[in-house]
Amino acid sequence: MALIVQKYGGSSVGSVERIQSVARRVYKTVQAGNSVVVVVSAMGKTTDGLVKLAHDISLSPNRREMDMLLSTGEQVSIALVSMALQEVGQPAISLTGAQVGITTEAEHTRARILHIATDRIERHLNQGKVVVVAGFQGMVSAEDWEITTLGRGGSDTSAVALAAALRADFCEIYTDVPGILTTDPRLVAEAQLMDEITSNEMLELASLGAKVLHPRAVEIARNYGVSLVVRSSWTEEKGTWVISPQPIPRALINLEIARAVDHVEFDTNQAKVSLLRVPDKPGVAAKLFGEIARQNIDVDLIIQSIHDGNTNDIAFTVISSTLNRAEAVASAIAPVLRSHREADEQAEVIVKQEIAKVSIAGAGMIGRPGVAAKMFATLAEVGVNIQMISTSEVKVSCVIDNADCDRAVAALRHAFEIEQRGSEGAAICPLSSPNAELGAITDPLTHSNGFRYRTESNAADTQTMGVQLPVPPVRGVALDMNQVRLAIRQVPDRAGMAAKIFGLLADHNISVDTIIQSQRCRIIDGIPRRDIAFTIARMDKQAAMEILNVAATELGWGEVVLDDVIAKVSIVGGGMVRQPGVAAKMFEALAQHQINIQMIATSEIKISCVVAQEQGVKALQLIHAAFGLAGSEKMQVSV
Ligand code: ASP
Ligand code: MG
Repeated sequence: MALIVQKYGGSSVGSVERIQSVARRVYKTVQAGNSVVVVVSAMGKTTDGLVKLAHDISLSPNRREMDMLLSTGEQVSIALVSMALQEVGQPAISLTGAQVGITTEAEHTRARILHIATDRIERHLNQGKVVVVAGFQGMVSAEDWEITTLGRGGSDTSAVALAAALRADFCEIYTDVPGILTTDPRLVAEAQLMDEITSNEMLELASLGAKVLHPRAVEIARNYGVSLVVRSSWTEEKGTWVISPQPIPRALINLEIARAVDHVEFDTNQAKVSLLRVPDKPGVAAKLFGEIARQNIDVDLIIQSIHDGNTNDIAFTVISSTLNRAEAVASAIAPVLRSHREADEQAEVIVKQEIAKVSIAGAGMIGRPGVAAKMFATLAEVGVNIQMISTSEVKVSCVIDNADCDRAVAALRHAFEIEQRGSEGAAICPLSSPNAELGAITDPLTHSNGFRYRTESNAADTQTMGVQLPVPPVRGVALDMNQVRLAIRQVPDRAGMAAKIFGLLADHNISVDTIIQSQRCRIIDGIPRRDIAFTIARMDKQAAMEILNVAATELGWGEVVLDDVIAKVSIVGGGMVRQPGVAAKMFEALAQHQINIQMIATSEIKISCVVAQEQGVKALQLIHAAFGLAGSEKMQVSV
């Protein structure tokens, strides 16, 4: 017998008939011998309606009153679902967040969950009842008890947090789509349903999956190892499993605000190759990385900074032992890339053997810009200069001088309160273990609960899951049209500059996505300088420009340049680690159609390219097709 948390979204409880069908599904699950906790959203578009009412009365409604208002939506649906269950003969009781004892921070309209009391729920379960809990809400336990909400879409987060607190066997998210798709089906009709995805991949795909699954819910699933499945409430289809490795055990207090960073990793076995002044035109990255892939050389980080005149720089890291071969490829290609215009603007190859990559990793960085800023500040405090930065939703990596590595790691461990775990090696890993993602997929413990359940309907599944499944190099492709690119020219190349820039933005709660430093160094006024470029959400554009313009004037940086007609297309997949040729394939797909890549940034399991906005959708379709995600028969790209 399993303990299952089932969450039903707004459309799943949008009418009397649908509520009755939810009740039948819950009843069936109980009849199969399981205990069930149900979490529900407000019916249909109720929350939108309430928000509109508030705005009809006030331009800026009081946030406490907003919570008072919005939390009523879920209170309606829990009562009705509970009644519907009782009608089919299933004992049930509805509880609000406060009645359960879901305590949150005192942040109205965007509270994070701190703790969930389990005693009352457990008592009702033991009496054979189904417990129907209002999603999206909690309470502040202070002298005055206050109702809070978790932010729009937050009932996924309630459900996964309940599953973690109750140590449920798994959590099912019922929604109006069949699961998680390889890309946005409105843009690519051939998008396919995924059978499974790891929580790290899901977090990296946040911009693709956020509408289906609240990223905070995925963070909790990852941090507490909750097995999760997203399924349609209209069908019996299996849906998409979101798989998490067994995590380092953590306490169930400060559930959502516990450490954002849970690993400090380093790798001293990498070397860096930079190509300076390559022409800024389609096909350059494809040619370079295509040749590197043909030589079977595995590339880790790739960075292409924004153009400077008619050229830009590409830098990448490889395992030290392959440096000579990588350098040979780059040197052979450099003359081919010669720009015809100016004789002195020739491509040049620079290699650096003595580098180290240090990274912080963890779920809990999304929407918390202070985390990356703190990493940069920590490195600055110990005088470590950063040569390359690579950021993703779950990791920030910096390439630094090899000689600085020990000092950097010690300082980061201290700053993020990561204890060294001796031989277990859990908290500090010399180099990402052969493949953390693979571990996630094949760890039998992770699966036991989820697949025990699936066994009943399909024994063959368990068989396949027992053996090592190959992790695809690319699981999904995402397009983000809601970012803009900022660049600051001529920032002095010394410790503390990244800390300064991203600290300023973090102070204003502006999250930065892709960060890139140019490899080219210019001496101006006797100071070596580089450009730093990054992407942010479109809505933060104005604020960021103002802050940075002031800082640039004060600190003697160059111009702050904005490009707000960009699109960012990303591929994500755990299997791209240690697999040569994935980046090349992506660049090649773009090159074939003359799409120029404006910026490249990578993490272990993600490669992102910034292209012109008008080419974004085409780029997405080409890349989705190039990786065969549309299924074997349907490789055609519809434009
Ligand atoms: N009802 C809330 C909303 O519409 C919470 C949720 O549905 O997840 O945002
Ligand atoms: Mg939702």
